[in-house]
Amino acid sequence: MVRKKKKLRVERVIIVCVIALVIGFGLYKGITWAFQSITSLLTPDVQEEVVEPEIEKPKNYIATVVIDPGHGDWDPGANVGNVLEKDISLTTSKAIEQALDEANIKAVLTRETDISLSDNKIDDLKKRAAKSAENNANYFVSIHVNSFDESDEVSGFEIYKKNDESHSLAQNIGKNIETLNYSKNRGILDGGKSLQVLRDNMVPSVLIELGYLNNDNDYSYLSNDEKLQEMGKAIAKGIIEEVQTHLLDNSTQNNINK
Ligand SMILES: [Zn+2]
Repeated sequence: MVRKKKKLRVERVIIVCVIALVIGFGLYKGITWAFQSITSLLTPDVQEEVVEPEIEKPKNYIATVVIDPGHGDWDPGANVGNVLEKDISLTTSKAIEQALDEANIKAVLTRETDISLSDNKIDDLKKRAAKSAENNANYFVSIHVNSFDESDEVSGFEIYKKNDESHSLAQNIGKNIETLNYSKNRGILDGGKSLQVLRDNMVPSVLIELGYLNNDNDYSYLSNDEKLQEMGKAIAKGIIEEVQTHLLDNSTQNNINK
């Protein structure tokens, strides 16, 4: 009887111990869970704050065009008061660059800021023309502004071409500037021999004189940044049309011939 009682007591102790262990384990788990929940609530979610770096995909350009904002730095070009040719050419060129990029055409500017490429004018023009070969460009487009000392009656834009191969580019650009109705189209002129930046070039090249700065009508758009933006867009449209009708068509034909 005494032995039986002892045995029973031992059994009870074991049961109590097991129950205590179960409760203890449960409590431990519960407290750990509660602690983790509170900690996660208090600490900010680090993962959400990690900003994935945006990887810019390389663009698959259909053509490359060198845009040359005429003059710069020590060489302001034509000017009326503080309206300078070097600023007009840069504003217009940047507008061309943006519109070309949107059409998947790479624009390489010979200058992005108010600088010159050399202290020497001939060397400066040589370096601008060399950008075409350096960048494997398809076309070269130089932006300038005219001024005529002898009269302020002369107005309009004109486009100089390097050679016959450059004619359709000049034509497409002229047609698009004309639609703006800012000034009259004075036509396409030969500049392959007289203009160094065209002469030194190896690709179809044009030089655009946007208008006559000393003429009141032309001054009104040449001194207006918004109108220069429109001018830039129109020039870009001409370049895009040239790329689409001549460059892409020719390359398709070449592929067929191969
Ligand atoms: Zn000029």
